Amino acid sequence: MSAYQEILQQLGHTKLIGVSKTKSVEDILALYHEGLKTFGENKVQEVCEKYEQLPKDIEWHLIGHLQSNKVKYIAPFVYMIHSVDSLKLLDEIEKQASKCNRVIKVLLQMHIASEETKFGLNTKELIEILEYYTANPSVYSHIQIAGVMGMATNTDHEETIRKEFQHLKSLFQYAKDTYLLGDKNFTEISMGMSSDYKIAIEEGSTMVRIGSLLFGKR
Ligand SMILES: *Cc1c(COP(=O)(O)O)cnc(C)c1O
Repeated sequence: MSAYQEILQQLGHTKLIGVSKTKSVEDILALYHEGLKTFGENKVQEVCEKYEQLPKDIEWHLIGHLQSNKVKYIAPFVYMIHSVDSLKLLDEIEKQASKCNRVIKVLLQMHIASEETKFGLNTKELIEILEYYTANPSVYSHIQIAGVMGMATNTDHEETIRKEFQHLKSLFQYAKDTYLLGDKNFTEISMGMSSDYKIAIEEGSTMVRIGSLLFGKR
């Protein structure tokens, strides 16, 4: 059985994003022909090049840190941006999506790991963005906040990872209950990578982002 088929069997209702960063278009096409149509990249230039070369029914997810001045390059085709970590970036996505006459789904990236280096919002910043977003619905007609994203600490200690995923789930629930009740677009919790996706699924992940387990190591 292929790695893809093995992962599929673990997923249940959780969606799979194939993280194809550094992998060739041939590698992506092989999975595409096995049935995977959803891929994630972390660099703007790389996702643009791959978009050009690959079938147009692929759903592209930008999962890495995104600078505001590069949003314009992906706005014409990107399906979802997982890494929104400021109001400035949210505003730029709205502006560029509007120019393309599109609606782009975004996730708010939360800082849940103990490591300093990982990007993401803290709870206070999350609240600030949600308050502004819900107070100004007419401003944001070309984006949908579809949920939250987070990366757990890079550790073998399962309980640490589990607690961080539980924290992300609780932030999702808080955001939904407090700000987005009745918003049918706010549904996603993007958590889980090759090393921790099984824990993420147990803790309520709706989207796992899997690279090396699917494509082989980078
Ligand atoms: C690279 C990457 C992944 C996938 O990592 P693997 O360990 O290869 O599964 C998931 N999420 C983000 C944000 C990444 O940059």
